[in-house]
Amino acid sequence: MTLTYKQLLEIKDLTVDFDRFGGKARVLNRVNLAVAKGEKVGVVGETGCGKSVTMKAVMNLLPTRRVTVGGSIFYKGRDLLTLDRFARRQITGKEVVMIFQDPMTSLNPVFTIGQQMEDIIGYNLAGAKRGLRLPKRLRQEAREQAARFLAAVKLADPERILNSYPFQLSGGMRQRVLIALALANQPDLIIADEPGTALDVTTQAQILELMDQLVQERGIALLMITHNLGVVRETTDRVYVMYAGTVVETAATDALFAEPLHPYTKGLLDSVPKLHGQGLSAGIEGSVPDYLQMNPGCRFYPRCPQALPKCEFEPPEPRSISENHMVSCHLIG
Ligand code: SF4
Repeated sequence: MTLTYKQLLEIKDLTVDFDRFGGKARVLNRVNLAVAKGEKVGVVGETGCGKSVTMKAVMNLLPTRRVTVGGSIFYKGRDLLTLDRFARRQITGKEVVMIFQDPMTSLNPVFTIGQQMEDIIGYNLAGAKRGLRLPKRLRQEAREQAARFLAAVKLADPERILNSYPFQLSGGMRQRVLIALALANQPDLIIADEPGTALDVTTQAQILELMDQLVQERGIALLMITHNLGVVRETTDRVYVMYAGTVVETAATDALFAEPLHPYTKGLLDSVPKLHGQGLSAGIEGSVPDYLQMNPGCRFYPRCPQALPKCEFEPPEPRSISENHMVSCHLIG
């Protein structure tokens, strides 16, 4: 039977609880998020708002001890949380791949780029049979494919790169290698966690442009986590705003920047430095609270400049403003 699905990835009411000294911390609180085939989606919010935890839950990279995951993560209509480890591994790491922000820690320092790429490509060529030693012909094919992927990410002299160790490359080159490694799996969805953050701004801009171009050319969906609103505006079709483990607003990127409705989204946009000559931007007072001491009502209540009395104890429910625009705030609706 062929399963039908509208969204490539659909996260429904995802919760993640961390057992910590002092109690249970609800780090993700009913997160809903979807990505369609070929779509480019951004997830924004301050550091510590649950963006990376959401993606690690999708990739099955959360620790197994003292962490409880609830809800559903549908990929092509199958709930990943109901699959066994091997079935899940066939999807995450192959059809869904993640690019991490620090290229140095994502590459193995004791193997050459060629060895690392050949392993991944060879694994796919051999039909994902683990432990299989590749025949010479397949190893040669894997090497040729690796060189082609390095050329696709605009790395000059792929042969030299294949023979290099990660420490012999610059940060920008390592980030390009990570993109090439992601492409080598021929994925349907790339999750990029703050891509290029560890690089200087010029190199970061080149990396983002390259990634944008490659996903468009190949029809790959992109889910980009970032705290950089400029990157989201340039790159994505739709955006989710997360605060303290909840999605507070989602909309088409243009609509969100033109008319942000949630006080947190407005604060985030206000905190972007502007060249208007009127001093520093206002931003948002305070910081993300400790997850063990979260407000029982709206999680943004302690920092919200427009809070109502009921916000302290009553969590707001998501409300649809239009087809693609959803806000969770008592001021709306
Ligand atoms: Fe502010 Fe209340 Fe809206 Fe929360 S629900 S963002 S506290 S107005």
